[in-house]
Amino acid sequence: MNKSAFHKLSYGVYAVTAQDGTRPVGCIANSAMQITSNPPSIAVSINKDNFTHSVIQKTKNFAISILSEQTDPAIIGTFGFQSSRDADKFTTTAYEMQNGLPVLQDICAWFTVEVTQQMDAGTHTVFLGTVTDCEVRSNATPMTYAYYHAVLKGKSPKAAPTYVEESEQPAVSSKNRYVCTICGYIYEGESLPTDFVCPICKQPASAFKLLT
Ligand code: FE
Repeated sequence: MNKSAFHKLSYGVYAVTAQDGTRPVGCIANSAMQITSNPPSIAVSINKDNFTHSVIQKTKNFAISILSEQTDPAIIGTFGFQSSRDADKFTTTAYEMQNGLPVLQDICAWFTVEVTQQMDAGTHTVFLGTVTDCEVRSNATPMTYAYYHAVLKGKSPKAAPTYVEESEQPAVSSKNRYVCTICGYIYEGESLPTDFVCPICKQPASAFKLLT
């Protein structure tokens, strides 16, 4: 079995969110797909270890926010590299309530979904549900998982306004490359600033190591 075949599948990058009483929770998922158009239905696959998983099982409702290439990558760090068990991911992320569910604002589009069926898939649960509402927020290109890896991870911080353009150019050999040991983000430069914070997972400079 050549598992590289899995890398040929296309995925997006989504924030899947739910409401735990008065508290919004959420995580990053790359598997969300439309199943039917009438009624409009969508399925997502969520890891059972995610706190959001337990809230979806309990409340039978979730929302999907589709991230775009212009979405601040720090959102991926906030939602993808922390747990809602011990972090309030929404204090630093702009969101609004739709149908009693939190949806992010810096996105392409959102859906609110009411779960109709769920399938135990071992490490994950596949939640299938009917779309109760949806809206487009921006015409920016939806972020793909491939874009996240090829562009966001490989380049200078989001704070550098040229980070997308830089990704299309060959690496300059005089620069050093430092990799975040938590999320794999790569910083290029002569040296890593001591106060550097990973734009993806928010880890400090001490979490980085020099690539040789
Ligand atoms: Fe990181």
